[in-house]
Amino acid sequence: MLVRWRSVAAPTVDARSLAGEAFADAVLWRRELHRRPELSFQEHETARFVEETLRAFGGLEVSRPTETSVMARLVTGRAGPVLALRADIDALPIREETGLPFASEREGVMHACGHDGHTAELLAVARLLLGHRDSLRGEVRFLFQHAEETLPGGARDLVAAGALDGVDAVVGCHLLSVLDLGKVAVPTGPFMAAPDTFSIVIEGRGGHAAFPQEAVDPIAVAAHVVVALQTVVSRETDPNERVVVTVSRIAGGTADNIIPGSVELGGTVRTFSTDARERARASIERIVAGVTQAHAAGYKFDYVEGYLPVDNDAELAARVAAAATRALGADALTEIPLIMGGDDFSAYQQEAPGVYFMVGARSEEAGATFPHHHPRFTIDERGMENAISVFVETALELLAVE
Ligand SMILES: [Zn+2]
Ligand SMILES: [Zn+2]
Repeated sequence: MLVRWRSVAAPTVDARSLAGEAFADAVLWRRELHRRPELSFQEHETARFVEETLRAFGGLEVSRPTETSVMARLVTGRAGPVLALRADIDALPIREETGLPFASEREGVMHACGHDGHTAELLAVARLLLGHRDSLRGEVRFLFQHAEETLPGGARDLVAAGALDGVDAVVGCHLLSVLDLGKVAVPTGPFMAAPDTFSIVIEGRGGHAAFPQEAVDPIAVAAHVVVALQTVVSRETDPNERVVVTVSRIAGGTADNIIPGSVELGGTVRTFSTDARERARASIERIVAGVTQAHAAGYKFDYVEGYLPVDNDAELAARVAAAATRALGADALTEIPLIMGGDDFSAYQQEAPGVYFMVGARSEEAGATFPHHHPRFTIDERGMENAISVFVETALELLAVE
């Protein structure tokens, strides 16, 4: 249950000018992290960098909930709520093609989702709030979370390690290259999908490509399966529901004159409700079973449930939106369409009311127009300054001393 937040007058500290003070350092940290990206569950150097930077601030209780995550507690000594702020720190298996002077120095690994920016932002927020601890009650807990990009995700490890114990609210931010610089969105309710994955093996009988009658051709069956799966959304799903079923992987065969023994398919299912998720899963398996049976083939079906949908708490969202308006002006706030991507921020929302807000980082000027997970993805770093403002304003307001 959400604690009863006090309604207080706007904080006396100006979050925007504070963010301006920390911005130059945030840029340096972000570029340093950008040069040395690390994949999910392997963020050893990143975690060390974060830990050392936090320790250098002094006054924070710094710990490692897991091998590659970092937590810092700003304990004010005054009774009050516990507010957790989260940044994800991992990178992706992508070869960077931005040509930036601080581009990745690790072949095939890239910060292509902006998590370097999230990490740098939260370091800046920690230092700023530390400087204003006299204006705060309760506790601010900074979570630098590993492995957002790879199932089962790092968030659940932090929860298991007790990082959310006693937390009254959790707030996180994602920089978006599809949202203009200067804009902030604070959605209410479910707005990021559950990202499940599936894999299918079509088991046929291999043989000579010139004697198909003696084989069961899994390639022909796989083709039928891919086409038939298109009806899960188009014919079996309520048009008012938002569901995606994508077959994104298919592999089979080694030579032009050989019918292979099996073909592997894989893909993703995106949904916003348990009901839609269950129905999509059941439809896919039913279709695979039916099509393979019709062609005398066999199958294996494996379905992995990904993160839960990110579902923002309405009351907390209103508080964060108000903070964003105060920090950046009424024009900054905007609405965004639902996002079919997922995020394991949802794991924290099972423990406490949570809000994941979106900050615009798109600009032509900075070349930040490519989608997330693209080899030329980048952010307009000024988006970080806006994110810092919103975090700081939110914390100063929710934890304001009397
Ligand atoms: Zn991503
Ligand atoms: Zn991301």
